Amino acid sequence: MPLAELPILIVGAGPVGLSLALALARAGIRAQVFEALPELSAEARASTFHPPSLELFAAWGVVDQMLARGHRVERLLYWERATRQLVAAFDYAQIAADTPYPFRLQLPQSQLTRLLVPALEESGMVTLHMGHRLTELVDAGGHIEASFATPDGVGTVRGAYLCGADGSRSTVRKRLGLSFEGLTYPDRFLLVATDLGAAALFPGLGPVNYIFDPYEWVIILRLPDLLRVVFQVRPAEDEAMITRPELVRQRIERFLGAAVPISIKSCALYSTHQRVAETFRVGRALLLGDAAHINNPAGGMGMNSGIHDAHHLAEALRGVCAGGPDSLLDDYSQARQTIALERIKSYSDENYTALTLQDAAVRQVRNLALRAAAADPRQARAYLLRASMLEERI
Ligand SMILES: Cc1cc2nc3c(=O)[nH]c(=O)nc-3n(C[C@H](O)[C@H](O)[C@H](O)COP(=O)(O)OP(=O)(O)OC[C@H]3O[C@@H](n4cnc5c(N)ncnc54)[C@H](O)[C@@H]3O)c2cc1C
Repeated sequence: MPLAELPILIVGAGPVGLSLALALARAGIRAQVFEALPELSAEARASTFHPPSLELFAAWGVVDQMLARGHRVERLLYWERATRQLVAAFDYAQIAADTPYPFRLQLPQSQLTRLLVPALEESGMVTLHMGHRLTELVDAGGHIEASFATPDGVGTVRGAYLCGADGSRSTVRKRLGLSFEGLTYPDRFLLVATDLGAAALFPGLGPVNYIFDPYEWVIILRLPDLLRVVFQVRPAEDEAMITRPELVRQRIERFLGAAVPISIKSCALYSTHQRVAETFRVGRALLLGDAAHINNPAGGMGMNSGIHDAHHLAEALRGVCAGGPDSLLDDYSQARQTIALERIKSYSDENYTALTLQDAAVRQVRNLALRAAAADPRQARAYLLRASMLEERI
């Protein structure tokens, strides 16, 4: 089969793999997506969509469905846990002239993937194969071959290029022999989904709250049908105990300072890392999303930057399919690796550091700086452009 007639193979039907499939479909390029799980993942993880991602989903024709399902957040709040005092409130109205979507959208990634699938089916350009786990890949020079373990045995598929969107433990990255240098943070994140109406107990809470504390910071996010509470978990805490329901309940009550009736809908503990693959391209194989780079979740940039990868990779593949130079794919690799290393890594690390500061004097400087920035429209705009990944549109 001539190369131009071969599909693009995408490994992984997470938010990034499916976004790439949709971007390719909109560019008139056929793709096949292979997902190891029998069903799309129901895992909670990402829930924050920043304005540049919403702009991409608008171009791909699905933003209205996202807006209808998600929760718009127009203010970003920072608090001190001990005093329950508001440190700073940033109003997204400050970036109204910078984007058609001047807000954060809270929508679980598992809902995004479920609304992307019908759009892919309607496009007629994408086939989704569930229960297909990539085991091997061979770059044959003129094309690429991938083997998948399926419930019916092992099958091999030929494609023009293979895009690894198979998450942080990427088989594609490992088969390519690429290093994934970086660090693992000492603290872990405990994600608890509850039906709690926390505003009544912690007056003034908004839909997105970062609550500073030198011993146990907390993030509270309102999602369409639940409240997500994220707790810092220190290294010394015993992993086997952390997610026990009675201890989770105690942790919430300690935070609220009262015993309250709470229904805990789900609870999961995550280690967090900061790692970037040594390259995002080897021959006909490319990496994107968590397969290429991971960062700590403070500020909600991991999935968003993966969605931006998907856009840039689809553009590069479109150029190559239209007869452009193969070096467009090297440009993709270099540009996105630079963004991951020089921007996403430092932004998410800054967000994390702000949460974890210990020294009282340094904490006060942080609070004064945030308060001053929020009160000054020029500084508030600059702050929100950065927090929204709009600064130079990363
Ligand atoms: C606690 C927490 C909160 C977070 N919050 C945010 C947030 O608010 N905003 C944000 O931007 N980011 C956030 N992130 C990061 C975000 O979850 C990830 O960046 C995002 O899920 C990456 O998407 P992905 O599609 O690249 O990978 P994944 O979501 O991991 O999807 C990879 C898919 O590939 C499949 N797969 C794996 N191996 C194979 C194989 N061999 N063959 C076939 N398929 C395979 C998997 O089953 C999976 O479905 C958060 C992360 C954590 C841990």
